[in-house]
Amino acid sequence: MTLDHLVAAKVTLISTPIFLLCILIETLLVRYFGAKGSLHTKDDGVSIILGVTSIFANGATAFITLGALFWVQQYQLFHIPLTAFSLMACFVLDDLRFYIHHRIAHRCRWVWAMHMVHHSSQRYCFAVALRQAWTKHFTGTMFLTLPLVLLGFSPVIVLFCGALNATIQFFLHTESIGKLHPWIEAVFNTPSHHRVHHGSNPEDLDANYAGTLIIWDRMFGTFVAEDDAVPVRFGLVKNLDTFNPMKIAFIEYWQVALDVFGKNRSLKDRLLYLLAPPGWSHDGSRLSSADIKRVHQQSLNLAPGE
Ligand SMILES: [Zn+2]
Ligand SMILES: [Zn+2]
Repeated sequence: MTLDHLVAAKVTLISTPIFLLCILIETLLVRYFGAKGSLHTKDDGVSIILGVTSIFANGATAFITLGALFWVQQYQLFHIPLTAFSLMACFVLDDLRFYIHHRIAHRCRWVWAMHMVHHSSQRYCFAVALRQAWTKHFTGTMFLTLPLVLLGFSPVIVLFCGALNATIQFFLHTESIGKLHPWIEAVFNTPSHHRVHHGSNPEDLDANYAGTLIIWDRMFGTFVAEDDAVPVRFGLVKNLDTFNPMKIAFIEYWQVALDVFGKNRSLKDRLLYLLAPPGWSHDGSRLSSADIKRVHQQSLNLAPGE
């Protein structure tokens, strides 16, 4: 077992009981104390099963990312020693890496086939945070960590920052926490911001890709504030309506395969079914998120005076 495995194992070992305790406390608060949220044992069960199995599936395939990270270490530009400042710098840069990965995950169907698992619940609670895919090392976006190692950060520190970021994100997944202090909402990703990200209303699509810092969305024009007047509809544009973990984990890959290997399409079409945004189709018969937003905007423009 290598040092990075130990780091990941330790973070998981410490955080898992805390996560399960939070799910229990949130459930009790919603059930008995009127906290905002919803209860669905089966949905929570599926999320927890996907969370636990994803640790093993991603652990077994982590060599893909780890191999690349340790291989590029020999080409490092600098050697950055571990200090409180360098750790913080690495965390912030890795958070930007997460933003880029997450944005690609929503805009490229191959990566979306992995990430849609996380969005497949129609609820929003701590358990949903655990609803993770089994295929994260196959998307290619984990290689976005390579520039950090090339710059001079140790692969172990880069992996630690990624694990810490994922741990922090767990606490975003709840309806029971409203908006926080405006300064916190301005700088950090919060439950309010991430609720929007899990929304399937047209105005909520492709927004708030942040991991820990919301500044990236504000900088790159993808920030949408939660509208208290319009309840967020959680889930996918087209929900799966299944509690079968295998189906949730692989259904989009199956759909991608059907599209890529379908009849009467050019090589370019097949490539676009793999790489274009979800909802793209060679005959224009489906709606991408951009189409859905455009149609919604048109309906809003038409609405006044009617
Ligand atoms: Zn997402
Ligand atoms: Zn989430």
